Amino acid sequence: MKTKPLTIIFLSLLISACTSLSSPAAAPVPTVDPSAQRIFHNGVILTMNPDQPQAQAIAITGEMIEAVGSDADILALRRPGAIVVDLQGRTLMPGFVDPHTHIFNDAEQYLDMTVLEAQQVALENGITTIGDMYVNEDFLEDMQKLDRAGGLQIRTSLYLVMTDNCGDLQGDWWQQYTPTRTPGERLRIGGVKIFTDGGTCEEPALSYELEPGAGTGDLFHSQEELNGLVAEAHSAGYQVTIHAVGDRAIEQAQNAIAAALGGQPNTLRHRIDHNSVIRPDLLPRYGEIGILPLVFGPYPLCEPFGPPPPAEYQAWEWPWRALLDANPGLPVAWHGDDPFFGRIRPLDDLYSLVTRNEIGRDGRVCEAPEWQKAHTITAVEALPMMTINAAYALFRDEEVGSLEPGKYADLIVLTGDPMTIEPEAIRELNVSLTVIGGQVAYCAADSQSLCPTSD
Ligand SMILES: [Zn+2]
Repeated sequence: MKTKPLTIIFLSLLISACTSLSSPAAAPVPTVDPSAQRIFHNGVILTMNPDQPQAQAIAITGEMIEAVGSDADILALRRPGAIVVDLQGRTLMPGFVDPHTHIFNDAEQYLDMTVLEAQQVALENGITTIGDMYVNEDFLEDMQKLDRAGGLQIRTSLYLVMTDNCGDLQGDWWQQYTPTRTPGERLRIGGVKIFTDGGTCEEPALSYELEPGAGTGDLFHSQEELNGLVAEAHSAGYQVTIHAVGDRAIEQAQNAIAAALGGQPNTLRHRIDHNSVIRPDLLPRYGEIGILPLVFGPYPLCEPFGPPPPAEYQAWEWPWRALLDANPGLPVAWHGDDPFFGRIRPLDDLYSLVTRNEIGRDGRVCEAPEWQKAHTITAVEALPMMTINAAYALFRDEEVGSLEPGKYADLIVLTGDPMTIEPEAIRELNVSLTVIGGQVAYCAADSQSLCPTSD
């Protein structure tokens, strides 16, 4: 079963294919002894580990991180046969984790690529782990075949559709596939997906009309029906991901998760994805109930979905500043939602999070209006949302998302440090190297010195 047709709004976004416009061409990836020790030193290591936020060097053995620390400490661990790479001041950080994307399930239909080609684009842009969010039985089998054949490099969690994107129930097929959480699984069942309002089918459910006479959008279920769906998946042990764009849908999704939890902690990490238009009274409820919110990077400025919201509702739109402030300590995560939402390029999304400007599919910058600029967050806040918090949303935080001994060596090297450069300069950054499980998955043609070959 295919995704039902998108609205005209989204179709207009899809005319140009998502490509990595500014990534240098891939070079042949050298093969190295997988058990060899590898050391990267003389760099800026952004660990996303609050106990040791920065370091200069990292040692890897096999698939795993062995140690993170100063140049002196790490080089002292060097063993005979080690491959040592001088980062020459470049920045090394965990690979991007995109917990809500469609780059695999929509590769053919919307990117005109095979899954392997879409994977290559993602690797070139620093993505090392994803949640693929629209999985039916046929696609699940395709992914299992790909994994068995050894083709899957990106760690992938699959979310099985309980409803389609128009809210129609898809039967109980998902119940024969139990979620798995074993460390090291390249492919796993993450949980189930429920759509509760419009966005790609019908319109988001808002408390106000975007245009006079346009109506206030489409809720797909009654509160009672949604409560029933969430309770069914919850009691069967599935993590539930609810698509909710408008504030009326968010409120309904919050209520349904709260009802399923019955006051207990959210140990299954039920999520609400998108959260685009949040009524102010709903902001603290994520933390109060314990719900994980996943949010977009860019606000659609280059190809707007419609007219700007009425002035009195502008503070509700993509209000990430207010969302973070209202929920201290909650692992709020970013999601790319590509290919519907721009290029497969997390660095563009990082630029949007810290400036609110958007980079269009053609590479031009669309300047954010002042009311949207009020929602900027810092790179120090945004990067954990794109790594460790996103890994938490996929139950992968014990394996990846930060650079710590005992985690998988999933990392990227960037041409500069997004935490210290001017926000405007973030859009000039590129990925030089992508490593998954200690193995080079992408090496930019201009960065051969970084690719760990035997020396
Ligand atoms: Zn999506």
